[in-house]
Amino acid sequence: MPAVSLSNVTLAYGATPVLADISLDLAAGQTHSLLGPSGCGKSTLLRALTGLLIPTSGQVRVLDRAVEPATRPAQRLANHAAGLVLQDGGLFPHLTVRDNVILPATLAGWPADRSEPRLAELESLLGLDPGFRFRWVRSLSGGQRQRVALARALFLDPPLLLLDEPLSALDPLSRTELQDEMKRMFRSLGKTVILVTHDIPEALYLADTVTLLDRGRVAQHGPAELLVRHPASEWARTFLGSAVPRWRAILGIVDAGKPA
Ligand code: ADP
Ligand code: MG
Repeated sequence: MPAVSLSNVTLAYGATPVLADISLDLAAGQTHSLLGPSGCGKSTLLRALTGLLIPTSGQVRVLDRAVEPATRPAQRLANHAAGLVLQDGGLFPHLTVRDNVILPATLAGWPADRSEPRLAELESLLGLDPGFRFRWVRSLSGGQRQRVALARALFLDPPLLLLDEPLSALDPLSRTELQDEMKRMFRSLGKTVILVTHDIPEALYLADTVTLLDRGRVAQHGPAELLVRHPASEWARTFLGSAVPRWRAILGIVDAGKPA
């Protein structure tokens, strides 16, 4: 049973479809990258998984349930099933680190003391100093803020994590560091992760499967190695080819984009 399944999904904001006839199954317990240039429809696809956007036609199923419009009760359920992290973290500036992290539990009606052990567990998982608990999130670095956002997304232990460009605003060093940690973490937690990124090395490095989008269509889908060795089209070859030097380091291949 795939964790996420789209059949013939088309979604238009106005007259022009932003997603065009997308059919895609994403296996549970794996990390999947949605990769493509700006404006190709990555965030739209992710929002369609939460019920915040409903396709013009076609079906979206998440965790074996049809996604329904995010009216309040459905939205709350969706929030429990999926942890969401956005590029800027989406943290609340008027809340402390602690109150941001435990927010899903607060909204779910947990008494405050029930949240404490989970908070400590997530601080340790994400390398967050417990001394930060009572700081405002604006006093943290970008990398620390994204750790806080990940801790919040993981708080209720959702089976699905949806990450929209979570590392795009970070400096290269924090970014590489968090990529390494996320890769280890996702493996050990066994969650289904959908990672939206326009960064080719990041998509290839973190994912079990990569879905390459081009103007709202699936240009190619498969394991990173397949995309690297056998780009499905000239467009895919050119797009993926723009990151060739990093591919060599990551996948240990010499002639990127050409059959070995
Ligand atoms: P990506 O995340 O890949 O950069 P998006 O999914 O955000 O792309 O956007 C895909 C396309 O849909 C873009 O052309 C964008 O301008 C358009 N778009 C996004 N949101 C809206 C909206 N609310 N109304 C109209 N067009 C939109
Ligand atoms: Mg986007």
